[in-house]
Amino acid sequence: MLETGMKSREAILKDRQYLWHNIVPYNEANPPMIAAEASGSWVTDIDGNRYLDGMSGLWCVNVGYGRRELAEAAYEQLATLPYFPLTQSHIPAISLAEKLNEWLEGDYVIFFSNSGSEANEAAFKIVRQYQQQIGRPYRHKFIARYRGYHGNSFGALAATGQAQRKYKYEPLAGGFLHVSPPDSYRRPAGQTVEEFNLLMAQQIEERIIWEGEETVAAVIMEPVITGGGVLVPHQVYLDRVQEICRDHGVLLIIDEVICGFGRSGRKFGHQNYGVKPDIVTMAKGLTSAYLPLSATAVRKEIYEAFKDNADEYGYFRHVNTFGGNPAACALALRNLQIMEDEKLVERAELLGRRLEEGLRALADHPLVGDVRSFGLMAGVELVEDKVSRRPASLDTVKGLIAACKAKGLIIGKNGDTVAGYNNVLTFAPPLSSTDEDIAFLLETFTSVMNASP
Ligand code: PLP
Repeated sequence: MLETGMKSREAILKDRQYLWHNIVPYNEANPPMIAAEASGSWVTDIDGNRYLDGMSGLWCVNVGYGRRELAEAAYEQLATLPYFPLTQSHIPAISLAEKLNEWLEGDYVIFFSNSGSEANEAAFKIVRQYQQQIGRPYRHKFIARYRGYHGNSFGALAATGQAQRKYKYEPLAGGFLHVSPPDSYRRPAGQTVEEFNLLMAQQIEERIIWEGEETVAAVIMEPVITGGGVLVPHQVYLDRVQEICRDHGVLLIIDEVICGFGRSGRKFGHQNYGVKPDIVTMAKGLTSAYLPLSATAVRKEIYEAFKDNADEYGYFRHVNTFGGNPAACALALRNLQIMEDEKLVERAELLGRRLEEGLRALADHPLVGDVRSFGLMAGVELVEDKVSRRPASLDTVKGLIAACKAKGLIIGKNGDTVAGYNNVLTFAPPLSSTDEDIAFLLETFTSVMNASP
């Protein structure tokens, strides 16, 4: 076993031997950072170097690191009732489902799983079964957007619109179609943002019509495409999407895996736009990633089609052994309590404005094409030059990320796509960040940018 404080060289050798990392390619010359402990917005590696985590892990440690009360909530629940399957019930799951309903400001029933991918998989199965059970058996297709990410499993990856993530894993689940996202920065010359957003929403309606309305089950989208490059839609886009779904009898699934739990400056991202989704999926910030837990919130009316159904297969035949684990639910409740007590949703909005302002101050930098933000998340799109808007090279992007890291700041980048858009730097610090943390983030990033041609 590794001892705490073990020298990084030895730990890296063992890491290389035994551990398979998420998503990043093996790179002998660039060993992983091995974290040892963390507090607030700061992570310390096994050599004692401190970094401000400008990405909250993978956009998920919303209340920050080192919250003993979360550990205690989980410990107490583990000591009392560590597990009971949700084929039956337990109080932490009931209480959390009630609380989520309050946060969602709607009438929803909650199905628990462990990850964002699973929450989306559950949503897809619920939608297909629902459409059959209300007498619309041909409605099986899902429409999603290019550049969106919805998870790693065969359905959630099929919904994902980033080709690089799918390459060599196809064929994935069938019936998932894609349309272009509202990437307003790259709209055709002569179109206003509003006109362009309406045209992008219109693509969804065209797709429904061409496919045959009676074959389309649901649309899935994040309120704002996050990992795909922080693409923030205009209000008219989501208004129109909602209208199209209603007009064509298509359900609307909103993926709040990143946008949820205060990240957007509201409890959920879609609340910024006044959208009323049929299904909401969530994970990450639900427990601030202290334990795995996700949820699929389903409008009551949809749930009704699964109740007291005369068909012997009319109930939702989906089991998830660990989903809704009592300790994870107890921890999630405490996590939401912290957000309420410390007004972290409001704080995200405030810090988000400060972050946006600081990043916008770099707008004249020759590498900066666009700065976008939504609550406490931001994207800086890098270009070769401001006129052609050709995406900056991956080497440039990686160089800036490495330069920030060398100065103690972790930032991210958008998911790669074969379309060549690897050029958005991303920022999503914990909602609990101090004023000094945000100042450090901005000063460090600004100094790195100013040292770059
Ligand atoms: N949906 C979105 C928007 C995500 O960003 C992610 C993960 O990054 C997922 C779904 C999948 O979540 P998980 O990695 O927990 O399966």
